[in-house]
Amino acid sequence: TIAVAVVDKMGHIAVGTSTNGAMFKIPGRVGDGPIAGSSAYADDEIGACGATGDGDIMMRFLPWHARLPAILPCTFMASYQVVESMRLGMEPQLAAKDAISRIARKFPDFVGAVFAVNKNGVHAGACHGWTFQYSVRSPEMDDVEVLTVLP
Ligand code: ASP
Repeated sequence: TIAVAVVDKMGHIAVGTSTNGAMFKIPGRVGDGPIAGSSAYADDEIGACGATGDGDIMMRFLPWHARLPAILPCTFMASYQVVESMRLGMEPQLAAKDAISRIARKFPDFVGAVFAVNKNGVHAGACHGWTFQYSVRSPEMDDVEVLTVLP
């Protein structure tokens, strides 16, 4: 998944994702990419989050329905959770790490990552099972900066 978050100079925040989906996916699979709150979520008041990795885990990660089909929407989808954690006062880094570690505690083989950015442009990433890279560009920067996040 390629997720992008934009904070404009008016303070509006938007996210979007593009994905080719999981490898060997079954025909008709609906991945996490098109599910708002799962692979991406934004709130003008707070910030945004984008996720990549094993969407079949990330989009169903919620205790009450974890054994139900993966396409059900839920209230602890990774990106939504990260934004909600920031709403409660967590810095982006802690919010990102918290969501990833909560998933990884239940699924130790989980491979995935999130980035988080708050409305002030403070950003961070967290990952599990792989090394994750994301890039950032702001108006005062001459070029894109690529950041590497270790698991
Ligand atoms: N999250 C995507 C999916 O499970 C895979 C990816 O991140 O590339 O469909």
